[in-house]
Amino acid sequence: MRSTLALSAFVAILALAGCENGESARTLSTGGTSKASGGSTGATGGSVVNGGATSSGGTSKGGSTSQGGTSAQSSSASGGASTSAGTTNSGGATASGGSFGSGGAAGSGGTAQSGGTSRSGGSAASGGTTTSSGGRTGSSAGGAGGISNSGGSQSAGGSGPDAGADGPSGGRSGTGGRATGGSATGGTVQGGAAGTAAGGAGGSTSSGTTGGTINDGCLDDLAKGLSISEIAVFQAGKISVMKNGTAAQPTTAQGAKIVQGKDALFRVYVTVDSGFQSRALSARLMLNGQSAGYSAKTTISASTTELTAANSFNIPVPGSAITDNLDYQVEIVECATGSGTDHSPLFPSSGVASLATLKTGPEKLTVVPVTSGGTTPTLDQTFSDALKSYIDSMYPTSGAQVTLNSTPITGCTITASTAMSSSAWSSCLDSVMARRRSDKPANDVYYVGVVQPTSSLNSYCGSGCIMGISPVASLTASSSRVSLIVGYSGYAPSTAAHEIGHAHGLEHSPGCDADQPDPKFPYVTNGKAYIGWVGWDKQQTSTKFYDPAKYTDIMAYCSPQWISDYVYRELADRIVALNGAFIISGPARTWRIVIEGPSGLWWGTPVTDPIPAEGEPVAARVLDASGNTIVQITGYRTPTSIGTAFYMVPDPQPGWFAIAIGEGELAY
Ligand SMILES: [Zn+2]
Repeated sequence: MRSTLALSAFVAILALAGCENGESARTLSTGGTSKASGGSTGATGGSVVNGGATSSGGTSKGGSTSQGGTSAQSSSASGGASTSAGTTNSGGATASGGSFGSGGAAGSGGTAQSGGTSRSGGSAASGGTTTSSGGRTGSSAGGAGGISNSGGSQSAGGSGPDAGADGPSGGRSGTGGRATGGSATGGTVQGGAAGTAAGGAGGSTSSGTTGGTINDGCLDDLAKGLSISEIAVFQAGKISVMKNGTAAQPTTAQGAKIVQGKDALFRVYVTVDSGFQSRALSARLMLNGQSAGYSAKTTISASTTELTAANSFNIPVPGSAITDNLDYQVEIVECATGSGTDHSPLFPSSGVASLATLKTGPEKLTVVPVTSGGTTPTLDQTFSDALKSYIDSMYPTSGAQVTLNSTPITGCTITASTAMSSSAWSSCLDSVMARRRSDKPANDVYYVGVVQPTSSLNSYCGSGCIMGISPVASLTASSSRVSLIVGYSGYAPSTAAHEIGHAHGLEHSPGCDADQPDPKFPYVTNGKAYIGWVGWDKQQTSTKFYDPAKYTDIMAYCSPQWISDYVYRELADRIVALNGAFIISGPARTWRIVIEGPSGLWWGTPVTDPIPAEGEPVAARVLDASGNTIVQITGYRTPTSIGTAFYMVPDPQPGWFAIAIGEGELAY
């Protein structure tokens, strides 16, 4: 479907109808809806304490309250309220003192603490203490604290047993998770005749995350008749961390690593014995010294198969829990009586296993509308959210920070009739670069110009078009941290992901006529770059795994698309370098900008505030009016993603008439 026009050697021409070819088709596979941020995890809170709190996925509720139990073992404490994977959660928090004083009436629990109403709201509750005397008193109080997304105080769960003996076991209770927002204290209540009981735990969750203890309604008995065959951490794709009982280095063949702060899916694979009875089981994941717990209750009918979500335990974990010094333990338990051989589905068999993680940092994006063809796209929160969701899901970053800049860039000439003009696109990119230089954002901010020359993609791209352009930028070239994309709904996020990849220095991956592909790309079949690992897109509302034999790399022009571990690792390298780095630059000066396209050379926007040279040094000559060389100079070349190039060259001096660089000459 690639155009055969002569200029196609320079242009990424994309026929709209050609799903083999293109950026125009890129997002067809991505689905459109963005998921509310913060909503991707749904582990449950609450505690395993008998009668303890539960909270599970689903919609959240505001702070609920409850009273502590009034009697012995059966007393209940409600713990954290709220949560879940959902969208907005009012951070319901509650703390109620559950109590388990036995022997006589125990006191009622403390007062509820309501959390805030925002996503970061929620309150932690510190469990009360249990002091008891007499009788079989004072056994474990304590529920779980919740965990919430944003920082906050640690909430201690109720304290454990005091002198008591037979009170209900706290199970995994005890320590609350991290909570946020205000703090709350579980009430302290005088018990009846038998001492004081108090406690309880509150905890709130704000985004469907909970921590601390797990309440999956299941037993503590390890499941029978199956074993854990593999554990993997998915962020954009699969990173295996255990196979057949042996811990694996958490890195892929091409060096992709677990990224700190990025939402993840822990996947527990199983192998079942013959004759295994299909039933619901729960996989419990404890992170970070048992301080945060997550679970997935799933009906297992057969051994896990890689590309099918069923028959594996898929446990969402929020990015906030993917920390430095990450450790974990996984077990699979029965939810009712099970039978079969005991293979002890627990890893590690004692203690915890640690996982190396990589700190990358945020991806800072400023999107700017570009007026062209008489129209200016409306960039609203919906646009911003869709872009953030896509980058959050695909890129090795702790999160995209998208800023809307409302002042349009003007002077561009991209229209339906210049849809395939690399010159028009290159000149417009020059305007975005000039805007970034003028705005002087922080060093690590990427500018994304958004153009929408006609009302619909069809009317713009009906006979082929360019969808985006970026410099293929070197690390030190801050001026080149820019991209220009079309803003059509459903196409913009994936186009941005591709172009921002170029701005991070990525070349094309091979396939479907992508220009100048990276010869080192490792997964090429029949000329197409495939992703090389099992992909996972957290934007998908139900868990899906992307087949590495079908999905092609984001930096090629084929579809369907996702990201390879190779490109993921390259992006991570760049983000780490940019966020961390002392970057060596040369002396600052002013420059002229020369743009090179299929029609020759033309001037871009001069650099009037001094900056260091950016790009690859190339030889150039200064000519006099007769065409004679006056002096040899150095220009600095940055290629673009569509075959054009930018050069930084010196301001002219007296007697300089023209410059010869690249394959052309241009008069000053
Ligand atoms: Zn490209």
